[in-house]
Formats: sequence, structure tokens, C-alpha cells
Amino acid sequence: MSFTLLKGSCPVCSGTRRDCRQSNQTGLIFCFAHEANPANYIFRGQDKIGFGMWQSSCDAQAFSDEIRAERRREFLANEAMRKQQQILNQLSSRERDRHYREILSQLSLSSEHYMHLRNDRGFTSQQIVARGYRSVSQWQKVAGLFPSNLPGLLPYGSLNVGGSGILCPVRDLEGLIVALRLRLDDSSQGRYRWLTSATKKNPEGATPHLDGELPLAVYEPDVYAGKGIWMTEGLEMKPALTCDRLSAPVLGGGKWSGSPKKAKQSIEYLSHKYGTKLLIFCPDAGDVINTDGVPGRWLGEIKFFESLGYQCRVAWWQQITKEDSDIDELEDYSIVQFITPEQFKATIERFQIGTHVMNGIIHKPKRVNSLISSPVKQLV
Ligand SMILES: [Zn+2]
Repeated sequence: MSFTLLKGSCPVCSGTRRDCRQSNQTGLIFCFAHEANPANYIFRGQDKIGFGMWQSSCDAQAFSDEIRAERRREFLANEAMRKQQQILNQLSSRERDRHYREILSQLSLSSEHYMHLRNDRGFTSQQIVARGYRSVSQWQKVAGLFPSNLPGLLPYGSLNVGGSGILCPVRDLEGLIVALRLRLDDSSQGRYRWLTSATKKNPEGATPHLDGELPLAVYEPDVYAGKGIWMTEGLEMKPALTCDRLSAPVLGGGKWSGSPKKAKQSIEYLSHKYGTKLLIFCPDAGDVINTDGVPGRWLGEIKFFESLGYQCRVAWWQQITKEDSDIDELEDYSIVQFITPEQFKATIERFQIGTHVMNGIIHKPKRVNSLISSPVKQLV
């Protein structure tokens, strides 16, 4: 290591000592003044001879920025590699479809689950059959041989289901079952799960990703009633019911822009098939007053599809608080208004201010209908 002698110009001891030196490689200052307490230098320890080693705080900042940038680069490189490996290991959509259909054919739907779907959710019997819902119990056994990279399968012929519930097939734009979702009977840890083979014991197990993206759910009506393509949260019952009730195609997801290739392909397919560029977004009840970023997420998703050249509208039926209905729970669809993204944004802003103010005064927002001065209505 080579040094420059500082000869009285040492910033650590302000020249009290004459033997201070600076490393030409690291910029560290070596100074014997142990009682020094310089403003812009950080003590980094002592060298073998007893010199205190000091680093300028500017250098320290630049150094930690560099380390952070380096870690970020490493992280991204690892992510890219992991994704690549995932894609190399994955079963094709068609293979997944074949095996998932085999698994579903071994299972049945319990009368309890059937009653839930019909009475609580409002599916018809035909719809329940057509969607292919099945009941499973914890670590459900399936018979036969399946490829180990079929997401959701564990060694010894078990499905990775942590509790009893309803299996919901997720179909892509070709109608292929590319993933299974589990609706748990016990929602205390969250209601829905992807079926995946990745576990704590086996983090490399096959996940539902296809080409590095999570699947989206495409639902198509028997007869198209016009209006556009509907966009709902979830991949299971909500988009299915919306499709059935409105006789409209639905792209279920919620985080579409997180699966950009799938979102683009699916929406292109639906847009072409149904001859419409109109997308109707259906925020859940309570989303506009949510303070955890949900309103911003909706706006981001709308922006994503606008950038792809689609006309976006938001379905609005005063679904302000959680007590209101979601799109699949509405009894009268004639109350749905179609507002522009700008109007939706203005609505959010009004309610976000309302929530904020009311949080301060009465802790929890109650119904804040009065905050809407006049209903915004624009027909599409
Ligand atoms: Zn010094």
C-alpha cells in the first residue's frame, strides 16, 4: 500500500500530529490522534501499528451506495437466472391441462361445497359442473403417476393443500387448465392459494408460473351480450360469476401488469374475438377508501392497458365500503355506472381525503356517501 504523508494537513487531527498519512488506494486516513473527533470522518478501527483509520463520510456514502447497487445487480441477475431455470423446468400448458384434468376426474364436489357455490355464491348447477370445481381435504391423495414438475404435486402422490377447500381450475385463453387455485374453507390465513410444489423443504419445486409469469384467468360467455371485456380481481369465482351474470368475457387477475405478456395476449385474444377495445374495471367494495395502496394499483393497471391501446372505464355502483357488494354480489346490474379513469381518480381522491379526515376524528370511516356531491355518470 502506498501513502501520501499529510504533514500537518491531516483533517482528523487538524495537523496536531506530523506523522499522519493517507492511503492512495482506499483514501483512508491513518492518524495517531486517538482522542480526535472530526466532524466528517468515521472511525474504522486501528491498524497493526496503532494508527487510527478514518474514512471520510462522503466516501462512506459513495461506498455503501456502490455496495447497494452491486447487491441489486446480483439480485437481478439471480432473479433472471431463477426465472430462466423455472421456464426450462416447466411443463407446457397442454401437459398441465392433461394432468390437471386427470386429477380433477379423480375428485368430486362435496354437497357442502356444492351448496355454498349454489346458495351463497349464486351459481347454477350447470355452471358449477362446467367450471369443474372439486373438493379436496388436507394433503389430498391422488392416484397414478404425474410428472414431478406438475405444480401442486408433492412426492408420494399428495396435493399440496394445507387444508380442506374447493379446487378451482384456472383456464387460459385456449381454455386449457394451466393452474389450480385452492379456496380454503378456513380463511383465517387468507382464503385463496395457488397450488404449487414449492415448499419450505423444497423451495425449487414447480410453481404455477408459465414463461416466468403467473397465469391469468380467461372466462368466456356462452352468448355475448355486448358492452366490453370485464376486469375483476381474483381468478376463481368472482370472474366466473361476473361472466355468467353479465354474459361478458372476463379477464380475472387484479395484478395483470405483473403478468404483462399473458395480459397482453389474453386481452388481444378477447378483444379480437368480441370485437371490442373497451375494458371495464371492477374495483371491489371498499377499494376506494383503502389506504394500503389499492386505489393506486387500480390506476396503475388502467394505465397499463391504456398504454396497450385499450379504452378503459371503471364500473361504479357506489361500492365505497366493505359492506357494499362486489361485482359478483350485485343483485341489480342496472345501477352500474361507467366512469372514466379521470372520474375514478377524482372519486378516489375525494374518498381518500374523507377517510383521512374521518380517521382523525372518529377513527373508522363510516359510510361516506354524502361525500359524493353528484353521481358521476357516463355511458359507454
Ligand atoms: Zn492526524
